[in-house]
Amino acid sequence: MAKQFGLSNDSVVVVIGSGAGGGTLSNELAQQGIDVVCLEAGPRLEMSDIVNDFNEMFTKLSWLDKRVGSGALDPDLPLWVCKTVGGTTVHWAGAALRFQEHEWKARTTYGDIDGANLLDWPIEAREMERFYSLAEDKMGVTGRHGIPHLPGNNNYQVMELGAKRLGYTQVHTGNMAINSQARDGRPACQQIGFCMMGCAIGAKWSTMYTEIPKAEATGHFELRPESMVLKINHNAAGQVTGVVYADKDGNLHEQKARIVAVAGNSVETPRLLLNSESSQFPDGLANSSGQAGKNYMRHTTGAVYGIMPGPVHLDRGTQMAGIIMDESRHDPKRGFAAGYELETLPGFGLAGVATFMSPGGWGREYAQDLEMYRNTACMWIVGEDLPQEANGVTLHPTEKDQYGLAVPVVHFEDHANDIAMRNHAFKAGRAVYEAVGANKVYERMPFSSTHNLGTCRMSEKPEDGVCDSTGRAHDVPNLYISDGSQFTSGGAENPTLTIVALAIRQAETIAERMRKGES
Ligand SMILES: Cc1cc2nc3c(=O)[nH]c(=O)nc-3n(C[C@H](O)[C@H](O)[C@H](O)COP(=O)(O)OP(=O)(O)OC[C@H]3O[C@@H](n4cnc5c(N)ncnc54)[C@H](O)[C@@H]3O)c2cc1C
Ligand code: SF4
Repeated sequence: MAKQFGLSNDSVVVVIGSGAGGGTLSNELAQQGIDVVCLEAGPRLEMSDIVNDFNEMFTKLSWLDKRVGSGALDPDLPLWVCKTVGGTTVHWAGAALRFQEHEWKARTTYGDIDGANLLDWPIEAREMERFYSLAEDKMGVTGRHGIPHLPGNNNYQVMELGAKRLGYTQVHTGNMAINSQARDGRPACQQIGFCMMGCAIGAKWSTMYTEIPKAEATGHFELRPESMVLKINHNAAGQVTGVVYADKDGNLHEQKARIVAVAGNSVETPRLLLNSESSQFPDGLANSSGQAGKNYMRHTTGAVYGIMPGPVHLDRGTQMAGIIMDESRHDPKRGFAAGYELETLPGFGLAGVATFMSPGGWGREYAQDLEMYRNTACMWIVGEDLPQEANGVTLHPTEKDQYGLAVPVVHFEDHANDIAMRNHAFKAGRAVYEAVGANKVYERMPFSSTHNLGTCRMSEKPEDGVCDSTGRAHDVPNLYISDGSQFTSGGAENPTLTIVALAIRQAETIAERMRKGES
């Protein structure tokens, strides 16, 4: 029988969210004998709920509560993230890359760039090496620690050939948190090609079926699905004391806590802090800097589609196992700071390509291009975007959600550096496909944001950010930020490996502090 903790038990660590950050932190703490209650807004699915159907899984997994996008974002679906046990690690594609050394020191490396709110991480690259290794081992990342790479699908082979003809050298099937051989009680990838719908056999790492059941097995962990946290409470001393949440029937409860860790992804985390304002914290909990909700980053993305002379069948095989890393370096001679990766991307079926390849596309020529679906290849750009104060999350002045909470408004505009980088990446992607004889190339602006970062960032000085180098809020000693919101800068790499590495590191710190009797 699963462990249950009382609502008045104030010795537990409450973790909000069960995704990459929250699921990992929960398990790491529970493994050290620390009692954890994890409150997750979404339902708990079984493996049998995962089916190889994009539309059905999108509806089952995605966070579809009202959010308003502004600026360059989709007004109705600014973000593509999950509301389910396992969080967005159920949807994710598994690309698990380390930051490059210089990316930990963005301000120092890139200098003072007009309009950018750049800052160095208060962490040294060398310190992260151990935590990256632990995270890679936990997640079974290919190409690391002797784990073989995945085979390349056709979409990759087209990209690889084009890249090599252009002289790129760092081209391979990526570092993927997908089993290339049976490992950790989970099977090897069967190349089914539905990674981003949830992997039905569990070859892809997801906290849903790795961290969460492992935490439960310790007897120190309770998961409460369909529990949406509405507010974090605190006492007169400015320490958090517990959280108020709504259960699946809308009944409110207060769970007491010794420590609260927030890992709701980069919109819900600052939204919860802002909604937890009080007379003592009038601008929101842990927000004396005014930085909660600001500096939102989503990576400079975009897609390049190539219509090739022969069949590609781009949806077959592991979806994102393919990368060109040569452009990820910082090389200001290209006309912008920082760098980007090029990664294989599936088409999400003919309907997906019809929707995404050229939104609003029409007429005979476009229809003919869609007829060439089986010949289509596709790649995705992932580049470092620059933090800007004006990009971020605020509370809607009037509109409320089903819990009576102010709806989040997410605003994002590209920085000039982001635009220059994307244009460079479009050209590079086009050149790759043209090098293998593409008949036509489409360039596609970003979709709803899948990488969401920076809205409660780490900073050396309290006035520059929300949390310190351990993720502990500068203003509140027993409150932690435990997800991608902590990111001081985004790097050119897909972020989840870094989120997991930081969660492992944070668990060590929390355990050590608890052992010493600190909060
Ligand atoms: C299609 C897709 C593909 C992706 N592919 C990759 C990839 O290949 N590589 C990579 O690195 N990243 C990828 N990502 C991004 C990756 O999934 C995220 O970076 C990562 O999951 C974020 O971790 P997190 O802990 O910040 O949040 P999440 O994993 O989103 O977890 C947050 C959890 O908190 C819950 N929650 C939120 N608010 C509350 C509340 N108030 N109360 C209770 N619970 C709450 C949510 O329901 C959710 O379960 C992809 C994302 C998508 C959508
Ligand atoms: S290709 Fe591999 S990781 Fe992706 S869904 Fe299939 S088995 Fe899972």
